[in-house]
Amino acid sequence: MTACATSTWALSAPVVLTLAVCVGVILLKRWVARQRYFPGRDSFLLMHAASLWWMLAAGLEISAQAPACKVLWATMAWPGIVSVPTFWAIFLWQYVNSVRQPLPLRSVLGLALVPLLIWLMALSNPWHGLFYLAGTAPISAEPGAPIRYEHGPLFHAAAAYVYLFMAFCMGVVIRAAMVSYGVHRRHYLAFVFVTLVPWVANLSYVGFGWMLFGFDPTPFSFAFTLLAFAWLIVGVRLFDLLPVARHLLLDALLDPVLVVDPQSRVIEANPEALKLAGLRGDWQGRKLGDWPVFGADLQALLERQAGVAPEQLLTLTSSARYFELRIRTIERKTHNGPLILGQMLYLRDVTQRHLDELKLAEALAISEERLRTISSLHEQLREQALCDPLTGLYNRRYLDEFFNRERGRVQRERAPMAVALIDLDHFKRLNDEHGHLVGDDVLRGVAQHLLDSLRCSDAVFRIGGEEFLLILPGADAEEARKRLEAICLRLASTPLPTRSGVRQVTLSAGLAMWPEQGRALDELLQAADAALYEAKRRGRNRVFASLDSE
Ligand code: GH3
Ligand code: MG
Ligand code: MG
Repeated sequence: MTACATSTWALSAPVVLTLAVCVGVILLKRWVARQRYFPGRDSFLLMHAASLWWMLAAGLEISAQAPACKVLWATMAWPGIVSVPTFWAIFLWQYVNSVRQPLPLRSVLGLALVPLLIWLMALSNPWHGLFYLAGTAPISAEPGAPIRYEHGPLFHAAAAYVYLFMAFCMGVVIRAAMVSYGVHRRHYLAFVFVTLVPWVANLSYVGFGWMLFGFDPTPFSFAFTLLAFAWLIVGVRLFDLLPVARHLLLDALLDPVLVVDPQSRVIEANPEALKLAGLRGDWQGRKLGDWPVFGADLQALLERQAGVAPEQLLTLTSSARYFELRIRTIERKTHNGPLILGQMLYLRDVTQRHLDELKLAEALAISEERLRTISSLHEQLREQALCDPLTGLYNRRYLDEFFNRERGRVQRERAPMAVALIDLDHFKRLNDEHGHLVGDDVLRGVAQHLLDSLRCSDAVFRIGGEEFLLILPGADAEEARKRLEAICLRLASTPLPTRSGVRQVTLSAGLAMWPEQGRALDELLQAADAALYEAKRRGRNRVFASLDSE
């Protein structure tokens, strides 16, 4: 090998071209590395490295003059030759399936094992001669003439391994093109075409002896493949044109937007999301739950309610801010159903709205409470307005309402109704003898006595100082008279408790019937008053019905 390093070199045009392609691959690699991340990028860059190795070895083989040196550089190319389709296959598989995880070092080392083994087999050829056979020799006696290799079984084993990967690549891109639609399908068809190129180059070399610069054209075809793929993925922006436009839109959005992959890693975040989290760099790929400020809350919300409601409220416990969360699943249509690529999380700041809502709800609860208080006060006031404070009986104010209602009812039921005017006998005297307060106690006692004598459909009103009005809906003259006489009799024999001992009191009552003696309340009252007058005249402590006098 040292001998070869110092042996004669020729800087022919093919060598210069090969070196130019090498420089091109290096520049391409740097450019791709600086572009936005795409699935399988690590494998794509490893493929660049392997291709570069292969091209360099090929350049050295073309440049070296001594046949032994040419064979040595051909041997040295093998790690590159085997690694190119290996990482190519991995790249295509990751790209097509949107696998974003970086290739673990373990896998890289594992995949590098066979290329190293094949390299060792090629290096040890001088001892076993099973890789290149003894017939391997320059095609002519000219100095620097290309070598015609005679391949042994180990070479064929290595070639089979390489073809296996190349077939896998073909399968991956053809399947991707078949299961995709529209622009994706065209994209993958371009992949199929580009993947075909190294096959064609290799088969034309192996099958028809077609050569480039007197050399196997496959490594050059791979350089073309790299360029074409790089162009397809990041150059032509077939997938990127819309994303770029959308990206600009995201940047301009005033609301935080995040894109997470199925493993809950954040792969995209707009400036508003970064601002909210207080992050500047080193965020791509970080688990959503580890994001400052909102990560834990957002992750918990996603886990708790995933797919339950299209819009959810995210409450940031740390900063008392509220966001409306909208989740959009990002998927790619395939013939086997949608392939979930991740989720877009759109956070709309609704803090102000939410606080307003809370305030409004609070104000609403307060006003409802006030309304309840007002209603109950109103009810109390109404009761107070309609009731006599001394006896608790209804007063005149309620009389009209009650009478009209009951009149309507008995009219419908074709029933009679009696009205009785009651006046206590010699009440003035009682007041004079025992005092006004005792008179009040007696009034209360009489009111209770009347209430106790009523049926639930009846009503009693205090319409004057010691005057009461009874309305008995449904009672005819006979019944009304009987009931009033019973009331009158019982009162006369009931001592009423007062503050100065029990007192006895009697009443006189005048009875009028609806509708015979009047349809209106006033008419009935007049008739009842006349009857009452007659009851007084006839000696008090009795009932007189106005019908009696007719
Ligand atoms: P009569 O048998 O003819 O009805 O004789 P009377 O003394 O009851 O006469 P009248 O009905 O005119 O008397 C009404 C009296 O009732 C006058 C007043 O002293 C008394 N009075 C009116 N309102 C009240 C009251 O709220 N409390 C008390 N204690 N007495 C009242
Ligand atoms: Mg009176
Ligand atoms: Mg009286």
